[in-house]
Amino acid sequence: GTFAEIDLGQALNENIRRCKYVKPTPVQRHAIPISLAGRDLMACAQTGSGKTAAFCFPIINGIMRGQPAQRPRGMRTVYPLALILSPTRELSVQIHEEARKFSYQTGVRVVVAYGGAPINQQLRELERGVDILVATPGRLVDLLERARVSLQMIRYLALDEADRMLDMGFEPQIRRIVEQMDMPPRGVRQTMLFSATFPKEIQRLASDFLSNYIFLAV
Ligand code: AMP
Repeated sequence: GTFAEIDLGQALNENIRRCKYVKPTPVQRHAIPISLAGRDLMACAQTGSGKTAAFCFPIINGIMRGQPAQRPRGMRTVYPLALILSPTRELSVQIHEEARKFSYQTGVRVVVAYGGAPINQQLRELERGVDILVATPGRLVDLLERARVSLQMIRYLALDEADRMLDMGFEPQIRRIVEQMDMPPRGVRQTMLFSATFPKEIQRLASDFLSNYIFLAV
């Protein structure tokens, strides 16, 4: 199969072509149809497997095709529609760069926020609007505490390298973040969890955060 056979819409297919992706990788071939069908997903995926596109394509597609969101115009609070959590600054930057290429000329805006760097530039980017927020857990908790980001409108949540996030001690932050999304009025949220390994702690996260999910090991 090729990407042209998956119905991702014209703009996204055009961007995929620009990136010179022709054939989906195994994780993409299986994960994308599951996510397009609206199912939650826990996927086994190593670095280099093409997992970034596997979670970005359904998110961008869903935002483009979804009902235009009636987002509150808070004082300085922004309301992203999708959240991608990643363990490190380096990985967040990489996901942001890829997601921006995939969302070129789609009207979908991607912003990144990570710790260990001044927050002001990130706040300015957020103020210009955000559909997809790529963030590390610690910096996102900071943004939530400052009420600069609200997770009330999140429709898509992707946890990338979940095992690494737990190894780094981010479980309390991740739980706080997901609790915010579960507060009423809670809309329909689709969740994708990517991890290279599946220890008990990851299985517990999956059963706490995902509903009726499909387990994918490629
Ligand atoms: P990732 O595992 O998401 O970090 O992707 C690893 C590398 O493979 C990145 O440089 C991607 O741009 C590239 N890549 C991902 N999917 C494809 C594909 N279907 N065809 C060609 N290259 C790809």
